[in-house]
Amino acid sequence: MSIWVLRGLRDGVVTTRWPRKPDQYADSWRGPAIVASGAATSEAVMAEGAELEWLCPTGAIEVIDQLRVDQGRCILCGRCIAARPDLFAWSAGATGPTAAAVVRPALVVPAQPETDQAVAAARTALARRTAALRRSVHVRHVDAGSDGSEEWEIQALLGPVYDVHRLGVFFTASPRHADVLLVTGAGTVGMSGPLRTTYEGMPDPKVVIAVGADAVSGGLLSDRLSGVAGSVPVDVWVPGSPPSPFALLNALLIATGRLGPEAGR
Ligand code: SF4
Repeated sequence: MSIWVLRGLRDGVVTTRWPRKPDQYADSWRGPAIVASGAATSEAVMAEGAELEWLCPTGAIEVIDQLRVDQGRCILCGRCIAARPDLFAWSAGATGPTAAAVVRPALVVPAQPETDQAVAAARTALARRTAALRRSVHVRHVDAGSDGSEEWEIQALLGPVYDVHRLGVFFTASPRHADVLLVTGAGTVGMSGPLRTTYEGMPDPKVVIAVGADAVSGGLLSDRLSGVAGSVPVDVWVPGSPPSPFALLNALLIATGRLGPEAGR
């Protein structure tokens, strides 16, 4: 008997039941930084202003009317939390229904008051546009200047633990067969044209998911590159560096309207 058969008998079924059933591992993944509760508007914080902003290598921390973190820029380096644990913390539930955003400003926490309306409008528009994609979708992945970390997590989706095929999600090499464009990387100049060509080659309706801080904002290269939104219209923004496979599953289900009207922020 081969070693793989013996291993299969020993381990049993390893495939997660998420999202049908909760998975303990899904919520144990570390999410981007947040502002610790009660710290956002205190007078002492306002006085520190620029000093706090300088803590972050990607410009994710801003102090204007209050202290905020742009999770779309957070590369999870931990510098702010190590320096000021009284002001910053890791977010929990990184793969929950609010992990991905359907509008870019929703990744800024605490949220701006006007963001809720924009989220509601974006959810409705996305649901209407993707109503035909509910049963089975094909995904084209394009690397627009990634460091390779997001690719590892995408690859994990095809393994026995996440098994993305059980959700009717399949990867394809051809834009002509794709419903979803999954983009990683900081949006390099050289990849802008090929990315646009891929998008234009896809049939309607189509959805674009920006995966990870690099694709959302340029990440560590954000002083030179600004992510992929300049090349293709992004519908779902996934923070993280890299996002977990659960976060990717979550984004795919939001993009295809399978997590209900409240999913995504
Ligand atoms: S990138 Fe680092 S310093 Fe900036 S918000 Fe994230 S954890 Fe904090």
